Amino acid sequence: MQLEDTPPQATDHARRQHFASDNYAGMCPEAAHWFNAANGSGHAPAYGDDAWTTRVSDRLRETFDKDCDIYFVFNGTAANSLALASLCQSYHSVICTPVAHIETDECGGPEFFSNGSKLLVADAGPDAAALGKLTPAAVETMVLKRNDLHYPKPKVVSITQSTELGTVYSVEEVKAITAMAKQHQLKVHMDGARFANAVATLGCHPADVTWRAGVDVLCFGGTKNGLPVGEAVVFFDRTLSEDFSYRVKQAGQLASKMRFISAPWLGMLESNLWLSNARHANAMAQRLREQLALIPGIKFLAPTQANAVFAQLPKPAIDRLQGDGWRFYEFIAGGGCRFMCAWDTTEASVDAFAAAVAQALKAD
Ligand SMILES: *Cc1c(COP(=O)(O)O)cnc(C)c1O
Repeated sequence: MQLEDTPPQATDHARRQHFASDNYAGMCPEAAHWFNAANGSGHAPAYGDDAWTTRVSDRLRETFDKDCDIYFVFNGTAANSLALASLCQSYHSVICTPVAHIETDECGGPEFFSNGSKLLVADAGPDAAALGKLTPAAVETMVLKRNDLHYPKPKVVSITQSTELGTVYSVEEVKAITAMAKQHQLKVHMDGARFANAVATLGCHPADVTWRAGVDVLCFGGTKNGLPVGEAVVFFDRTLSEDFSYRVKQAGQLASKMRFISAPWLGMLESNLWLSNARHANAMAQRLREQLALIPGIKFLAPTQANAVFAQLPKPAIDRLQGDGWRFYEFIAGGGCRFMCAWDTTEASVDAFAAAVAQALKAD
């Protein structure tokens, strides 16, 4: 039987690029190349004992200029949940922002996998909150709020880089937060689902905004950056990863054919493609922002420092755009519309979407 290579309803209309999430994009050719290379190399040991996984782990250690411990899992929810569980006992707590993915979009995964560690949502004040950021002062307020044994003891600070609002912490901001964390014996977790986009913006060495800045564990996102699937959990402090492989296995996150998750990373790490993919996505978001800024009635909700544009549109315009088949989220990070660019978003797609937004607003 001959199978079509497109989904049944894939008209030109449905095949257009969308701005809902960077995970709408497929895998980049370089990731596909190494995926196929791993497949073409025949049998290999299972559960991560293969040469591909070793090679990619070594490459990641070189990338971070650090002898760190690395694990591969299927998705970001598992990466965050398991990393946090490894840093906490069940009576501990994790300080984060109200818009943190671990708080709003992981279905209680961090609490579940840690057997109950509570997430403490910090109020960082209007300025930082508008950027989706945590501050040292907010961390300290949370830590000092209670110190009795009736309250879950703060143990970890979790920050997202780039943030859920498409902003980026500077190296100095990260250092200030980790300094406060260390002062109170807290570990620091970084949700890096879009770590690449942040590093592309900062232009710094990836070590400068992670372990050299005091981050203990990074969940390094690959999926949104161009992999088919998979995130790397990077423990810069190896003492924190004890028994982590058991956690991964118990959570159903240990890929038996792990080489198909790890090998595609070679494509991302070769010639720093992870950074050029991210730079492209960021540039497309910048292009979209510039075009939207020309439309009367547009109100932006956050600066565009990575690959997202947040804007407020009138409801009828939203309905018109969605009626016309454009996909984007309205519920992410506290309202407004989120337009996300990916490694493969084209200038033509940005231009077509910006024109559609202009049209939808004009009709009001
Ligand atoms: C996408 C994303 C994740 C990972 O989500 P999964 O769907 O579980 O892979 C984690 N954190 C942030 C900030 C994200 O945007």
